[in-house]
Amino acid sequence: VIRRIPSVRREVELLETSELSPSVRRFVWRSVDGEPFDFLAGQWMKLYLPGGLERDYSIASPPRATGVDGADRFELAVTRVEGGPGSSALFSLEPGARLTVLGPNGLFVREDRHRDAPAIYVATGTGLAPFRAILLEELARAESAPQVLVFGCRTEADLLYRDELEALAAAHPRFRYVPTLSRAGEGWTGLRGYVQTHLPAVTSELAALGGPPPHYYVCGLGRMIDDARRVLKETLGVDRRCIHTERYD
Ligand SMILES: Cc1cc2nc3c(=O)[nH]c(=O)nc-3n(C[C@H](O)[C@H](O)[C@H](O)COP(=O)(O)OP(=O)(O)OC[C@H]3O[C@@H](n4cnc5c(N)ncnc54)[C@H](O)[C@@H]3O)c2cc1C
Repeated sequence: VIRRIPSVRREVELLETSELSPSVRRFVWRSVDGEPFDFLAGQWMKLYLPGGLERDYSIASPPRATGVDGADRFELAVTRVEGGPGSSALFSLEPGARLTVLGPNGLFVREDRHRDAPAIYVATGTGLAPFRAILLEELARAESAPQVLVFGCRTEADLLYRDELEALAAAHPRFRYVPTLSRAGEGWTGLRGYVQTHLPAVTSELAALGGPPPHYYVCGLGRMIDDARRVLKETLGVDRRCIHTERYD
């Protein structure tokens, strides 16, 4: 059902990097041969890093040329892990650095046969990356089922892609952006606490609109995925075929 795209080795050059939050950087890569990248929104790339390390990263940009993203480039959003050799190696790269990548990989995509069902995306930290790609693609379509993003992080400074997601929500009534902070400051008027605690409310709000039951897509560290899955299965009785997960650790 999922379009198979052969995974190939490519040489890429780091075009630019910028800060997305105090602990997350954005890395834009361009293919050295100038050929376009073919992948599905939600898939990931394997990076061969200096020092013989291999690490996997979700593609945070949508396939094909949309806006600033050329077809010969892709973007990653990477967390700096304290003492982590892979992320530290990446953070030390300067524009012009070259690497080999292998991809695309993975089945964590919005399948065509599920597109009529609403989607609830659940992420913490850079687990947001595949959902940025998926949302930019879904919302570029003339029509789509309702889309909800429940995104958790510690503080307002950690809200990756905040301006862009707020602008998308303002432009598309079918998209709801639901950020929740676990260590919010006093000025924060939005939701607080962990992502999984908000899944019952988000689900019943969506149910009130009618339509088929939603599919849930959960991405990030294993502990959050386990917590979210428990709420989905035990509290909400969601069919496991409607729960899709991508684990980073
Ligand atoms: C399919 C897939 C997609 C991934 N996509 C991304 C991505 O888009 N962005 C990204 O930053 N990482 C992503 N990762 C994680 C990435 O591959 C590395 O594990 C991460 O960069 C840490 O490597 P390291 O060598 O720095 O740390 P290591 O010494 O290998 O430490 C690994 C530990 O770091 C922690 N960790 C791993 N990833 C994260 C994270 N994202 N945020 C916080 N803590 C983390 C976990 O506790 C894990 O056990 C993905 C992993 C997989 C399997």
